[in-house]
Amino acid sequence: MIDKTIIKELEEIVGPKNVLSRKVDLVTYSYDATSDMPKQAPDIVVLPTTTTEVQRIVNLAQEQGLAIYPRGAGTNLSGGTIPLKKGIVLSFQRMSTIIEVDPDNLTATVQPGVVIQELNNAVAPFGLIYPPDPGTVATATMGGSIAENSGGLRGLKYGVTKHYVMGMEVVLANGDKVRFGGKTVKNVTAYDFANLFVGSEGTLGIVTEITVKLIPSPKYRRSMMCLFKKLEDAGNTVTGIIKSQVIPATLEIMDKMTIETVENYTRIGLPTDVEALLLVEVDGMAEEVVEREAQAVAKVVKENCGELKLAGSDAERDQLWAARRAALPALAQLNPTVVLEDATVPRTRVTDMLLSCQKIAKKYDLKMGTFGHAGDGNLHPTILTDANNKEEMERVHKAVDEIFATALSFGGTLSGEHGIGMAKMRYLGDEIGESGLRMMRSVKEALDPHYLLNPGKMVPAKEA
Ligand SMILES: Cc1cc2nc3c(=O)[nH]c(=O)nc-3n(C[C@H](O)[C@H](O)[C@H](O)COP(=O)(O)OP(=O)(O)OC[C@H]3O[C@@H](n4cnc5c(N)ncnc54)[C@H](O)[C@@H]3O)c2cc1C
Repeated sequence: MIDKTIIKELEEIVGPKNVLSRKVDLVTYSYDATSDMPKQAPDIVVLPTTTTEVQRIVNLAQEQGLAIYPRGAGTNLSGGTIPLKKGIVLSFQRMSTIIEVDPDNLTATVQPGVVIQELNNAVAPFGLIYPPDPGTVATATMGGSIAENSGGLRGLKYGVTKHYVMGMEVVLANGDKVRFGGKTVKNVTAYDFANLFVGSEGTLGIVTEITVKLIPSPKYRRSMMCLFKKLEDAGNTVTGIIKSQVIPATLEIMDKMTIETVENYTRIGLPTDVEALLLVEVDGMAEEVVEREAQAVAKVVKENCGELKLAGSDAERDQLWAARRAALPALAQLNPTVVLEDATVPRTRVTDMLLSCQKIAKKYDLKMGTFGHAGDGNLHPTILTDANNKEEMERVHKAVDEIFATALSFGGTLSGEHGIGMAKMRYLGDEIGESGLRMMRSVKEALDPHYLLNPGKMVPAKEA
């Protein structure tokens, strides 16, 4: 419980309607999109609307030794927003203004609570896009996606969030407000602090304003669905497309179980008699280049015994991408608990990783579907289980350990886009080693010596 005088002070800072302390409200903030995580209601939720309010809240938290848990839409998949000890959830729901769209400089400046799709809607009339597009583009916030360095369906050609952040304003753990970068295309002044905060999962500072790069919207695109009777043919097609030096905007995979589940859920007519499908989109400004790239993709698909279906209209294209975006929600309706992982490997190892996931599912007798951003080597093996079934959960945890160990043995990484949070902290040393962990702690302690910002996430505590 938080002291009444602190509640009063918070109400003075942001106004009483922006402070939530009733149990019924707090429960909503006790979890995020990650399953198999402890649930813990926060002591209080505060919804600031300005940077000055954020600074005053941080100063108060510091004085009182309260932790701060920044929160956007709570769609992260690594337990990043779950409060773990006494403190304040700082929700950015009401800091959601698009401050400026600057079509002359190809930039936009936003508050952290702006939803990614809203930014895209605002820049579309200028013929521009903000490319990072996680599956949750219609709900996730700019602040949350910057703190996770989110990727998405267009990551292969257009990169991920870090490639678009040009500058930001951050409130540090000591209450200071700092600004790094801005609208200049080039900026090598000081350390690259803006990028230090990208992907820092709310552990180093609170992002209160962001300037991002926009790009012209591609004029032409060709979308296709490629069907395979063997999973390895789909994996080899991914490697083959990249090897042919065509970089599609999007190159996604779904295995048989995901296809069947999505079809059952959406009824859009996906074929269920195949082992895997790839969804590919090539795009660009010149029609003939896009056409040439589509043909190059078709050639690789044919070489790998795939069957190709071109989307004949925008409606057909939209249907394909809706099917892909439905992958996780569709799988999620089958079982009470969905453990979704994010193991990522070099693109030449995609086939090996797909086959390994199949073997691991069989070994531990688990229901697992795999889909993901295959062109990035970023796969989402998704285990369908029930957290109440203790015996099965033990097998799930062993399978997850093995998935990550396999990805690392292939030269891969623990996370391509979902971050470390609480969910993967125990594996971090396996990838970055003891010196890497020491370096993480040094950076954390330089900026947040008392571990007030999102404690218990990303940076493992020192062994006693
Ligand atoms: C169905 C589904 C599909 C998804 N698809 C993708 C995908 O394709 N690609 C992908 O990368 N991710 C994906 N995700 C994960 C998630 O949607 C992204 O990480 C998203 O960008 C998180 O945004 P959010 O607003 O929900 O952030 P939250 O979950 O609220 O927060 C995420 C992290 O950011 C911190 N944070 C939030 N705001 C701030 C701030 N202002 N300052 C400092 N720290 C802050 C939080 O403390 C937390 O650590 C998916 C999730 C789901 C459920």
